Amino acid sequence: MKTISRRTFNSTLGKGIGATALLGSSAFIVANAASQKKKKLGIALVGLGSYSTYQLAPALLDTEHCYLAGIVTGTPEKEGVWASKYSIPKENIYNYQNFDTIKNNPAIDVVYVVLPNSMHADFCIRAAKAGKHVICEKPMAVSVAECDAIIEACKDADVKLGMGYRLHSEPYTQEIKKYVREKTFGNVHYITVDAGYRSRSNPEQWRLNKTLSGGGALMNMGVYAIQSVIYGTGENPLSVSAQEFSTNPDYFKDTDETITAQFEFESGAVGNIMTSHNIRANRLFASCDQGWYELDPASTYIPLAGRTSRGDLDFPQESQQKLQMDDFAKHILFGEPNVAPGEMGRRDMIIVEAIYKSIARGGQKIQLDIPKGYGL
Ligand code: NAD
Repeated sequence: MKTISRRTFNSTLGKGIGATALLGSSAFIVANAASQKKKKLGIALVGLGSYSTYQLAPALLDTEHCYLAGIVTGTPEKEGVWASKYSIPKENIYNYQNFDTIKNNPAIDVVYVVLPNSMHADFCIRAAKAGKHVICEKPMAVSVAECDAIIEACKDADVKLGMGYRLHSEPYTQEIKKYVREKTFGNVHYITVDAGYRSRSNPEQWRLNKTLSGGGALMNMGVYAIQSVIYGTGENPLSVSAQEFSTNPDYFKDTDETITAQFEFESGAVGNIMTSHNIRANRLFASCDQGWYELDPASTYIPLAGRTSRGDLDFPQESQQKLQMDDFAKHILFGEPNVAPGEMGRRDMIIVEAIYKSIARGGQKIQLDIPKGYGL
């Protein structure tokens, strides 16, 4: 079987860059010269839990256009540990109470909110009011209304807003998006995505507490499943019907354990997702006119893998978080596209709310009215 590798990916990227240069070579040179002088952007992580500790902070040691400049933590014992590990000066260390004074700190350009979901809106809005660009972890918030408030706060403050959607900077995902864009395998007829893991360790964790998480599997891995059916078809869905399954209510007392949902798309494509806190699965499969493509795993940190009806996919594995944070820094520094804007996080929350509504109504089909231009 043929292997589709980095060579193909690089040549596509190369063509894109070449086209940009040709379109406006003098503007490009001026922008490039200005950018050379610009420092790396300083990022402050808010919430030093497992994602910040094991993924984001290590990735920020390798990023080209940003670095870990500050931290915001509610746990005083973490301050010294992080300060020495990442050489963070005392004046760049904040707690949840004095966080707003970050507005006076020119070393911090971007605030990255990595807290439990119900705290995203508060800290994103406070960051925007402090005049800092914002990266918000997924899910964007616990309601569409909160997403609106975040987007408005960022607009009012004239700061950039990006989602922590690392897959939009990841090469296997880019390859699938390219197939969709170029119709490499023709039209997509069916796409199915699974995104789940088995939660066992701690029934008291915030992810299983609805007040803190806003919901269970759907608010966690379900966001990847929704993202995948959309980028895997290149369309926003027109409608959704959903079902919930509960097999261990003693452990999953407060939040959804397993959810399935089916989507209709304007092209006629049909989509299906399964997300769970009690089933291990991580896969995207699309059946098209002239073949198929599959990622398995499709949304883990590393390494993703995939194949198509024309051959295996083989791309180099790089930290997705590094690529994602550099992409956002390039958006701020050089005006490159925002690959995962806040509006995309809001769109996904519209779908999450519709899925819960469908379940509450016994699986009724819910029509979706998603504004255009939300990024696919
Ligand atoms: P975590 O439980 O490991 O860390 C949560 C952090 O929030 C801790 O530092 C904790 O002290 C702090 N916190 C503040 N108030 C809290 C409260 N009331 N209850 C619990 N913790 C509180 O969680 P995590 O895995 O780091 O997830 C944080 C965010 O990042 C979530 O929104 C999650 O969805 C997101 N996340 C995204 C990815 C991704 O791949 N993009 C991966 C993991 C997590």
